[in-house]
This record gives sequence, structure tokens and C-alpha cells, in this order.
Amino acid sequence: METFACPSCSGTLYFENLACACGQPVVWDPGARVFRDADQVTGCANRAGIDCNWAAAGSGGLCASCAMTRTRPDLSVRRNAALWAEAEAAKRWVLANLMRWGIFTARDPASPPVFDLLSELVAGGREQVMMGHADGVITINVLEADTALREKRRDQLGEPYRTLTGHFRHELAHYLFLRLEPREGFLPAFRALFGDETADYGAALEAYYASGSPPAGWQESHVSEYARAHPHEDWAETVAHALHLTDMLDSAAAMQLATPRSQVEGDAYDDPADEHTLAAALDLAIAMNHMARSMGLPDLYPFVVSAGVREKLLFVREWLPRVTG
Ligand SMILES: [Zn+2]
Ligand SMILES: [Zn+2]
Ligand SMILES: [Zn+2]
Repeated sequence: METFACPSCSGTLYFENLACACGQPVVWDPGARVFRDADQVTGCANRAGIDCNWAAAGSGGLCASCAMTRTRPDLSVRRNAALWAEAEAAKRWVLANLMRWGIFTARDPASPPVFDLLSELVAGGREQVMMGHADGVITINVLEADTALREKRRDQLGEPYRTLTGHFRHELAHYLFLRLEPREGFLPAFRALFGDETADYGAALEAYYASGSPPAGWQESHVSEYARAHPHEDWAETVAHALHLTDMLDSAAAMQLATPRSQVEGDAYDDPADEHTLAAALDLAIAMNHMARSMGLPDLYPFVVSAGVREKLLFVREWLPRVTG
């Protein structure tokens, strides 16, 4: 993510800021990707409720991101308001990343996805929430904003990484597949790398969960264990990683910590299919892991990226900027 300038004092602002250190309240304008003076631009109707800092857009006074949320968690359960706020913050970040490629902007002709942001905490008890994507509807369990609970689940599932940002990137990847599927040349190239996505999904998932520990060498072709479950899951996991790496490199460039080594100067989103840009992102990930260890923290990017996975990442990075045509 890039950093921004305060419209009043030109000081540095970060994506989630509601006000500048100089005292100026600000609103983020997703169309222009700048912060504006909150006294001159109407903020999202959710600004007071969940600290949404985007500008209002269209009817209802909601911003472009909040307007995509069809279902909010049950707010009669007090705890859900804070969980929902955190989920919306992660969603805004990921949507703003995709907007760099024109997706969900005014020039995108397609309908955006719809989000059901549900909580396991419901009036009178608990209810299971199945996260997933179906036909443009994305369901996210906002209880995963609870750090202790999410970390416990991550441990139980044997995953190296689990965040709301990761969930949004993974589920949006399924939606982006639907956008790319009809495009000339996409499916044959996809199948050559990821396999036949028409394979029975339910049976594949069942076989995956019954199979126990993965075969030796699985990392040569898959970025995560779950990516082995089905070509659709391989795609979603790989897209999530392409988005992690692109955004890490972009954030590093914004902080003058790294420059994308691509032909195009300094923008990780400009030339994403360039293998030097990918190499720069992976080098950066190793450097950030080393930094995290100096604080005694887990690796920032706890993954091994093999040559086979690099090939898939380059394919994803070649196609994502073409979603809007
Ligand atoms: Zn300022
Ligand atoms: Zn909003
Ligand atoms: Zn999935």
C-alpha cells in the first residue's frame, strides 16, 4: 500500500487514518486514491460506527466498500460491532489493492461481489459460519478478528499463517476466477498449470481431508497444503500469495525499503508479471522474516516458494491486471 499526504499540512497519512497528527479529520477518496478534508467531503455513513474512513458514494451514504456488505453480524451481540469493524478494515485494504488494477473502480463494468460478514456469536448463543465464495457471494466469519481464537484455529489446522486479510484475498480470488474464466486464452493456460477445475469439488475436498499428511515434495507445485485440495483452491491460495507479495513490495517501496526490480520504475502493481518483480518481492519476504526474528516474532511470510509455485504466481500476476479487460 502506498502512503498518502494530508490535504492540510502535507504530512504523511496511512491508509487507515481518520485524522492527521495536525488535527485535520480526513476522508479517503477511493477514486482518486487521496485523502480529502473531512469538512469538505462527506464520509461513509459507517464512519462513526466502525471507523470507516472512506468517502460516501452513491445512495445510502455508504462508501464503495461498505456498500458491498449485504449482511452485517448480529449487532445485538455487543462484541460483534468491534469484530465487524476489524473485518471491514481488512476488506477495505484488500479492495484498495485490487483497485490498483482498476477492479471495482468506475472503469470496471462488472458487478462487484456481495459480502455476508457473519459472526459465530449470535443472540442467545453460537452458530457455525462457513467461510467461502459462491457465485459472487463471499461469506466471512468476523469472529476470526479475535486474535486468540484465530491463533488457536491456525494451530489446530497446522497452518503457518491465518489472518482476515488472507481470508479476504483467498475468497476474492474465487470471484476473480469467475471474471477471468470467459476470457480468451485463460482456461487452457490455467488448466495446463493448475489442473482441471471441473473435477468434482465435493469429492476432491473429501479426499483431501481423508488423506492425512501431504506427500513428500508437495511444495514443489503448491504454495500451501490446502492448495492441493482442488484446482480452484490452488488458484485461490496462489492468488492470495500473489496479492500478499505484490502488496508487501508496494508497501516496502512506499517506505523506501525496496524498489521493484522491474523495467517499469518503482511500482509493484505496474508490471506484476515481470519475474524480476516477483524475485524482488520474495527477497524482501526473506529480509522481513529475518527482521521479525530479531524481535522474537514469527516469520512475516512463513512460506517456501519453489520454482513450480513461482510459475503459477507469474501466471496469476499476468492475469490479474487483465480482469477489467
Ligand atoms: Zn495534517
Ligand atoms: Zn464505509
Ligand atoms: Zn477457497
